[in-house]
Amino acid sequence: MAKADYEKMLKRIEKNLVKHSKVTDGRFELPPVDVMWEGQKTYLRNFAEYPKIMRRDPAKLLQYLSKEFAVPAERVGDSAMFTGKRDPDDFTRLLKIYVTDYISCITCQSPDTRIEKEKRIHFLICEACGAKSTIKGKYA
Ligand SMILES: [Zn+2]
Repeated sequence: MAKADYEKMLKRIEKNLVKHSKVTDGRFELPPVDVMWEGQKTYLRNFAEYPKIMRRDPAKLLQYLSKEFAVPAERVGDSAMFTGKRDPDDFTRLLKIYVTDYISCITCQSPDTRIEKEKRIHFLICEACGAKSTIKGKYA
């Protein structure tokens, strides 16, 4: 194969890859919440799964949930324990907001982002399209 043809072929493959990744970007599925009540406490038993999928600091996510619920929270193994009874739907709602406010790229909706701090301001850097935006949430 001539070098020019080979390069053309590579370009084509690259194009297809870009297209493909765009299609899958929107499918950032969160696992269903696994909530258990014990007395006046609520356990999110699969808490550890979320920061792993989101590629975010578990401590930050826990802090966010704790602040939003306005109750103390703590890690218990892979679970997170919250004071008071919380509805599973509340967790789902807050986790979805977290994805929108702290993870999804505003420009291309990709979840492949990371947080960078510059002069006390947190920015969301998109690894898919390179966009840089300020974070909407308060607890980055
Ligand atoms: Zn992007």
